Amino acid sequence: MAKPLEYNATLIEREDVTPLLGIFRIRPDAPLPGEGAWFVPGQYMVLGLNNEVNPELGGVRRPMSIASAPERRDCIEFYIRYVERPESDNPFTHLLWKQRPGARMYVRVHPTGKFTIEETAGAEDTRIKVLVAAGTGLAPFISMARSAVNRDPEISLRDHVIIHGVSYAADLGYRAEMEALAAKTGLIYLPTVSRAKQDPSWSGDQGRAEDFFMRERLPALEQALGLPEGGFDPSRAVILICGLQGTIGATIERLLHRGFIPDNRKIRGALEIPEALPASIFYEAYDTTPPIDLRDEARVAELRAELHAALAERAS
Ligand SMILES: Cc1cc2nc3c(=O)[nH]c(=O)nc-3n(C[C@H](O)[C@H](O)[C@H](O)COP(=O)(O)OP(=O)(O)OC[C@H]3O[C@@H](n4cnc5c(N)ncnc54)[C@H](O)[C@@H]3O)c2cc1C
Repeated sequence: MAKPLEYNATLIEREDVTPLLGIFRIRPDAPLPGEGAWFVPGQYMVLGLNNEVNPELGGVRRPMSIASAPERRDCIEFYIRYVERPESDNPFTHLLWKQRPGARMYVRVHPTGKFTIEETAGAEDTRIKVLVAAGTGLAPFISMARSAVNRDPEISLRDHVIIHGVSYAADLGYRAEMEALAAKTGLIYLPTVSRAKQDPSWSGDQGRAEDFFMRERLPALEQALGLPEGGFDPSRAVILICGLQGTIGATIERLLHRGFIPDNRKIRGALEIPEALPASIFYEAYDTTPPIDLRDEARVAELRAELHAALAERAS
């Protein structure tokens, strides 16, 4: 049995975006470390709860991306989906959904992870940042955008794109805030709804986040980003993806023909990518399925050929 967790934080606010999507604000008992910004946007923390109904199941802990900006010190915000078909026998989200403001919780106040602009593209990188979110994968990008505005209220985010893919328009958490940020900073916010046919309220882009990278849709994306046709490539753009395997894998596969290089040792090895070539697609996976099935030799050979043709063309 997993050991019960010692609670050290309080859930102070909960906003239900839909019955399956929530924004949770948590305040640790101990003061946050340091002064001012206390983590790097894109990092995550570990939350935990004990199973009170079935105490024999003990405590469960899960990593969660921080959605609040590091400059915010009164609480820590998380954007979480209730997982309807969990894999474990003591799913964290099922315990979390029972909690109301005032509930006690465990939080490991130790921001972790390298899915940050600094550790991926690099702080000085001037290329367009294309931030691709599936569902609650928006959380790290919210933190990044909020922090950028906190640090410089007059900042232009015209070189930042947030693609947010959801099933239904109601699942577009943070939509009003994103639209306001877009109006204020020039951020390019591209929400997209995959079950649009069942959602007559939606008249915007349709399909999944990764569908923006389908060959036939790249010219429209280039236009939205102010790039010439054919100009969406790693010399002008760097991509960060957050969410589940489907979005990560399809984005990588669809952009190899433009010469984008994924930041993953195994994929690089399988695609025979020269070590000297820097990565231009970075990702944070919320699940454990590999983004690309490297056991599928025929598919890997196809992807390798596509990438190497793109690299040869770019070198000539
Ligand atoms: C670094 C990192 C950061 C994370 N940040 C977030 C976050 O900000 N918000 C968030 O909702 N989740 C986040 N997750 C996922 C989270 O840690 C748990 O895996 C998830 O909440 C399910 O836990 P569970 O115990 O309820 O279900 P489990 O029994 O552990 O079930 C696992 C199943 O849940 C699915 N799953 C996991 N996350 C999601 C999701 N977000 N949407 C739909 N299905 C999912 C997986 O595909 C897997 O099949 C993050 C994961 C990692 C590794």
